[in-house]
Order: sequence, then structure tokens, then C-alpha cells
Amino acid sequence: MVYLFDEGSAKMRDTLGGKGCNLAEMTNLGLPIPPGLTITCQACNEYNALGKRFPDGLMDEMKKALAKVEIKAGKKFGDAHNPLLVSVRSGAPVSMPGMMDTVLNLGLNETTLKAIIAQSKNERFAYDAYRRFINMFGDVVLGMEHKHFEEILTAKKKAKNVKLDTELDAADLKDVAQNYKQLVEKDTGKKFPEDPMEQLELAIKAVFNSWDTPRAVTYRRISRLSDTMGTAVNVQTMVFGNMGNDSGTGVAFTRNPSNGENKLYGEYLINAQGEDVVAGIRTPKPLAALGKEMPEMYGQFADIAKRLEEHYHDMQDMEFTIEKGKLWMLQTRSGKRTAAAAVKIAVDMEREGRISKEEAIMRVQPEHIDKLLHRQIDPKAKVTVVAKGLNASPGAAVGKAVFTADDAAKAGIGGRGEKIILVSVETTPEDIHGMVAAQGILTSRGGMTSHAAVVARGMGVPCVAGCEKLKVDVSRKIATVEGTNVVIKEGDTLTVDGSDGRVMLGEVPLVDPELTGDFEELLRWADSISRMHVRANVDTPKNALDARKFGAKGVGLCRTERMFNDPDRLPIVQEMILADTPDARKRALKKLEPMQKGDFKGILEAMDGLPVIIRLLDPPLHEFLPKLDELLVEVTKMSFHKTDDRVFNEKKRILDKVRELSEFNPMLGHRGCRLAIKYPEIYEMQVAALFEAATELKKEGKNPVPEVMIPLVGNVKELAKLRALVKKTADGIIAKSGVKLNYMIGTMIELPRACLTADEIATEAEFFSYGTNDLTQTTLGFSRDDAEAKFLQIYLKEGILTDNPFEVLDSNGVGKLVTMGVQLGRKVRPGLEVGVCGETGGEPRSIEFYHNAGLDYVSCSKYRVPIARLAAAQATIKQKNASKKKESFGDS
Ligand code: ADP
Ligand code: MG
Ligand code: MG
Repeated sequence: MVYLFDEGSAKMRDTLGGKGCNLAEMTNLGLPIPPGLTITCQACNEYNALGKRFPDGLMDEMKKALAKVEIKAGKKFGDAHNPLLVSVRSGAPVSMPGMMDTVLNLGLNETTLKAIIAQSKNERFAYDAYRRFINMFGDVVLGMEHKHFEEILTAKKKAKNVKLDTELDAADLKDVAQNYKQLVEKDTGKKFPEDPMEQLELAIKAVFNSWDTPRAVTYRRISRLSDTMGTAVNVQTMVFGNMGNDSGTGVAFTRNPSNGENKLYGEYLINAQGEDVVAGIRTPKPLAALGKEMPEMYGQFADIAKRLEEHYHDMQDMEFTIEKGKLWMLQTRSGKRTAAAAVKIAVDMEREGRISKEEAIMRVQPEHIDKLLHRQIDPKAKVTVVAKGLNASPGAAVGKAVFTADDAAKAGIGGRGEKIILVSVETTPEDIHGMVAAQGILTSRGGMTSHAAVVARGMGVPCVAGCEKLKVDVSRKIATVEGTNVVIKEGDTLTVDGSDGRVMLGEVPLVDPELTGDFEELLRWADSISRMHVRANVDTPKNALDARKFGAKGVGLCRTERMFNDPDRLPIVQEMILADTPDARKRALKKLEPMQKGDFKGILEAMDGLPVIIRLLDPPLHEFLPKLDELLVEVTKMSFHKTDDRVFNEKKRILDKVRELSEFNPMLGHRGCRLAIKYPEIYEMQVAALFEAATELKKEGKNPVPEVMIPLVGNVKELAKLRALVKKTADGIIAKSGVKLNYMIGTMIELPRACLTADEIATEAEFFSYGTNDLTQTTLGFSRDDAEAKFLQIYLKEGILTDNPFEVLDSNGVGKLVTMGVQLGRKVRPGLEVGVCGETGGEPRSIEFYHNAGLDYVSCSKYRVPIARLAAAQATIKQKNASKKKESFGDS
């Protein structure tokens, strides 16, 4: 249950905790570490299992180890002449805020205090240590409020008319310490514990107890950490940075944690103890200044830092203390770093020969690099946040507020070219033309998978969604922020940060994403390792080009309905829908065909040589018509006023059609391939447009690779019928053109029945692409938007769901269907190409699942392509490492 520092190693993280195992490792490297002992995480677990009682023999073991520490330190705990003081430090296997804070200078009482004064001949130092100890013990072990201690100290400084703790003299600090002790007695009804061993026992218990505090439990739940790890307790000989101007304490990184530069980086304070450096009581000096102030100490420290980095093969975050001209190391661990630093350090270390390419890839968190791919608020800018919403689509944007999609389309990109932010309650598919015209989107309602959020992420437009304090009045074109006097009028400049949900008034300076050479290099390594490749979901030639720049190896999903929503085309689409006869419908479709052809040509050209999956029309037709309630109001108004009969009849006709098309549950209604079974001419037109485009490109010497995808198939007969139609149309056009063109026909797998009968479906499909959005909706029986709006948050809070299943694949449920579909499909068609094109295709944990399920690729929005490339490589490496481990277990 207890280890001395020289009995442990960095491999014993689960036993000794992070801090303890690294103190052991450093001790065994021969570095200057104050001697100490570690009580194991298992002892903590047992303590908690016993209902907060020390396991039998724990204190005896601890005392025996402490006796050995005393010998090493040449001091005795509680001794009246030569007392050992210790720090008590918690340390779980993973770093965890919410755990008990450190208690320093433990073992001080009225007797040992006198000895410390006599030995150090430094009364000021002794009382400084004493008052710090009482304060920390009171805070951390006795659960008192820190602010009462602070009040006493502040009162003293005021009385002496000084600003800094260091300006108080021995007599002042003695007073403070006495007042602290009285405060403890008053607050707890008990005298401050004088017996050092009792102090130590109480402190150890406090560390153990902190494992189960609500704060710690919540943190573990959020971070998916196990409750059974427990925390270790480190009891370590004190060294003192507060013994005068030849002493000090500091923190440092072996490389710069914000930009990755390979240069020592840190801060220190002279004549200070513990966390003074980070507490902001005094302003610390940059580490470089230590080189001038104490060159020898700096030199020693720089050497140690170098050794530690070489030893751990990673950037280290270290704590040190200098006691009267002697350097002591108190902690080392892998340092936290920004995304940019993570990339640079990983690539640099591979080049320096310290780590392999695979290790470099594993060093960078995929989600983390999202930050590198979007414009950001200049970190130096001063900002005033007026409201906060959800960080729905990353990146920052500046523009003038507009309140309707039409206004946005008129003013923004494609219109007058102004920079605008679309502010709205929420968005609908009819608002797309306004959304594409905006720099950023701000909504007051809706969650992370609301329409605005999903579409914005897909387009890479920054979006803050669900900003509940924002009250948007679209009719008056004005928004206010509840509880403030902030008013946003049309034309007012706004800045939104979709990376963290902040909304600011005025223009905040932005900086461009830094796609550095290192970043590209790392992703190239990733591609060379991954088994899966990454495609992009794009609807426009511009997005296809961007996606290619981000490393997409093709298009996994091109949604053709986005092309229908273009304001120029919507009237023709409506004409097609309103047509009473197949002939009238065909006439309207003929008008659409050249437009679709242009879109397809642009995308195929942008992805020249790479596969492009075109999904034929999917949404129910009423999505392209005005809303029923709006029409009703209009028609009713018209009937009261004198209106031209023709105009009235036309409106009435639309109303009748909308009524006819309206559905109780559009998600499960007349959409996907079911549309084409009833109106085959729609798919015919789309396929004709696609193959006209492809054959033309072929003639121009290009290499288009079209793949036709039929959505929402649940029955092989649906696919057989439509496949025949696609094939007939495509082959006819190819034959007429005289060129040779290969293409595939496949289906989206997005219904449970498609997974269950994948062996039948594969007889008609040359490829599968999982549409996990609909597959999740239909498997869970959740309508996504309703779930988001009504109950998903409660499900997450109650722990019924651990993740939003529309963001992270529900691997236990939907995942089983995915695996089954792959296996059944490949049974009848061994080379079947299988990918995924739902939102989860860009999410690292889901990507790992898809890798293990044997998929060929994932497809995601362009901005997530680099994240997916990294995640796909990591999944490959993890699987390799796991099978290596298995092998070596088999050997032994
Ligand atoms: P945290 O986990 O919050 O970093 P630590 O256990 O590292 O807590 O302690 C915080 C600070 O206390 C350290 O950075 C160091 O400055 C100081 N400290 C801890 N143990 C000792 C010790 N034995 N001697 C001197 N200072 C110590
Ligand atoms: Mg702390
Ligand atoms: Mg620390």
C-alpha cells in the first residue's frame, strides 16, 4: 500500500498516480527530488470501500516508510530539534481538477516551529511557513472557507500599509498565524491539531475523501473516466523556496506550449512558496531572467529539462524550487499544449529522431485540430461578450446583422457582397440561400444538431446556435439580449465565435487559420498509415475544391436537393411539383436539367480523377413549396380583398397541392427512392444531367468518376427497379456520346431493414454508404430535431445516453446494424465498397468504430476532412498496437 519514491517507476501510474509515478521515475534517474513516499490508489479504493476507514495496517506501513524518508532527509517528523516537514499531495492516474489541493509545511506546531526558527535563524521564514500551513490545512483538510483567512491577511497588510506578502515582517506573520489559529478554533469548535501524526492522518484522509466529492465525480463522468481508479497520496520532504533571496519557485515547459517552439518556457518567483507563481499574488518573472539572476541554477535546470524530455520523449511541464542555492525538482508530466503547438512538437520530435511517425500521429488529438482550420478571434484582441450560445459550427465571423434569409441573400455573398451575419430564431431548409450568403449565423433556438448547426457545419460557416438570452424579433428586424440593455438593429456590426459560442458587438479582429507545413506533413504521414480513406460531403464546386485541398480523396455525398433550393431554380422546381401531368412535369424538368448538369460538371471537374457520389433527390417534395400555414393566411386574406382571379386561383392551386403533399410524419413519408418509384422522371432527369456532364468532361480529356447513389432503400426490389432506370438512362447517354465511361450504382443504407437484408440489397448495389443520420433516427425511433429540442438534453443529463447519437455513433445499437450490413453485403459481393456519409463520419470515436467494422472510407464536411484523416490513422495504429499486444500475450 506504500512505496518509497525509489521503489516506483513511471510504469506504475495506475498504482502510484501520475505525480507519484513521475516522482519515482525522476528519483531513479538520479535527479534532485526531495525524498518521499506514495500511498497507492488501491489503498484509496479500499478506504472508500470500507466506508471511509483506513485499511488494516496502512498507517503502520506508512510510518515504516516515513522512517526511511526521515533517514534520507536527515530529519525526524515531529522532532523538537530537527523536525521534518512534509507536503501532502494528491495525484490520480490521470490529472483531475476537483481533487484535493496540496498541503505544504505539514508537521509544524508550536514546538517544531521553535526548532525551525533556531535552525534557520530566520524567524520570518518560519512564520511565513506556519501561516501558510494553517491556512492550507484549514482550507483543504478542515473544509474552512479560504476567504476568512484571506481577510485576516489583507487586514494585516492594510494596517501595515503594504501591498505584498513579502513586505510583511516576522512579527506581522506571527500575528497572522495566531489569528489564523483562533479562526480555526472559532470555525471548527476545536483547537488546531498540534500532533504532527494526527495532522498527517487527517490530511491523508482528506485526499482519499476528495476522490468522492461531487465535483470530482462529475468531472469523471464528463470526461468518461473510471470511478475505480482512486487517487494516490504523496508525502514528501519539504524544500523551501521562501527562505530569502537565494530561494525561489517556478514552473516551466521544455518547449513553448502555445506555439511549440523548441525553447524552455516558464516563470518563477524569488522568495516564494508553492503556488504563488500561478496564484497571481505577485507577478512572476519569465524563466529567461533566471539565467541572469541565478545562472548556475538556470544551467542546472535547463540540463534537467533536456534530460526529462529525452527520457519521456515528450514535452514536459515541470515544477521546481530553489532552496538557498540548491535546485529541487517537484513534478514533471506531459505538458498541455495548444493545437498548433501539438502539431509542431509532434512533427519536430519525429524529425529530431525522438519519436516515430506513428507516435507523432498519436500525439495530436483530432478534435483539437478543428481549431486550426477556421478563422479565429485574434488572441490579442480585447473583447466584450454580450451573450453566449452553443458552439455550433467553428470559426469566427464579423458582419452586419440581417434578420431574414432574403435580406441576407440580397446583401451578402452573391448579392451586394457585404459581410453579414444572419440573425434568426432558427433556420429552415428554405433559408439556405441566405445562409450561404452569410459570414456567420446566430440563432436563439435549436441545439447542436438543429438545422442551422448541421447546415452551417456542412458549409463551414461559423454558427452560434441556441443563444437563449437573445430575443429576436424578425418582423421588427431587431434583437435584444435579455437582462441587458443591448439592442442589435439591422446593419449593426457583430462578431460571432462559433468555436466557443461567444457573441460580441462591433468588429473584433480575426486571424486566418494556420495550415502550416507541419500540419500538412503530419496529415501526409496519417494518410500513408490509414487503412480507410476520407471523402467529403460537398454540394458545390467551390466546396469540392476546398475539400480536395484539405485532403479529401473524393466526394462521399453530394446532396442534389441543395441545388434545387437555389432562388433561381426554386420556381422551376415548384412548377415541376405542381404539374398535373407527367408531360407537364417533364417540361419543367427539362428546364432544370441544364442547371443540374452545370453543377455536376463543376463538382466532377473539381474532383477530377476521384470518385464522386451523387445522391439522387431525397427530401419530400413539399419542402420546396411554401408552408401550409403561411399559404392559408395569404389565401384567406385574398378572399377578403379584391384580388385578380388569376392570381387567387394560382395561389389556391398551390395551397391545394401543399395540402395534398402534406404528411403526418415527413421523416417517414414520401421521400427518397419512394419519390422516384412514383415520379421516375425526376431521377431520369438527374441521371441524364449527371452523365451529360461526365461524358462532356471525358471529351474534354478529363477523368470524371461518377457514382450514383439511391437513397432510403429498404427493399431490394426498390433498388432493382431504380437501378434499371439509372442504368438505362446512363448507358443511353454514354453510348450516344461515344466515350468510354465507368460508373457505379449503389445505395445509401439508412433504414434498419436495409441492414437486415443487406445480402439481398448487395445483389443490386455496387456500393453501400451508411447514412447514419437517418439510420439513427429510424433505429432509435427519434426524430432528430424533435429529440434535440425536447428531450435529448435530459437524456444526457440523466445519463440515459452518454452522447448525442447524432454526433457520436450509437455503437451498441446502430453500430450493430452497421457491422451486420457490412458482413451480409460482402458475403454476396466480396469487393463491396462500403463507406459512411452521415454526420458521424467526421467524429473520431465513430471513425474508430468504422475502421474496426471494415469500412473503406468515411465522408464528412470539408472542414472535418483533416480531423477524419488523423482519426482514421489513429484507428489503424490503435488496432495494430492492440493486435501486437494480443500476440505478445499469446507468446508468454
Ligand atoms: P498540483 O497538483 O495542484 O500541481 P502539487 O502537489 O504539485 O499540486 O503542489 C503544488 C505546489 O506545491 C508545487 O508546485 C510546489 O511548488 C509546491 N510543493 C509541493 N510539494 C512540495 C515540497 N515537498 N516542497 C516544496 N514545495 C512543494
Ligand atoms: Mg492545485
Ligand atoms: Mg503541481
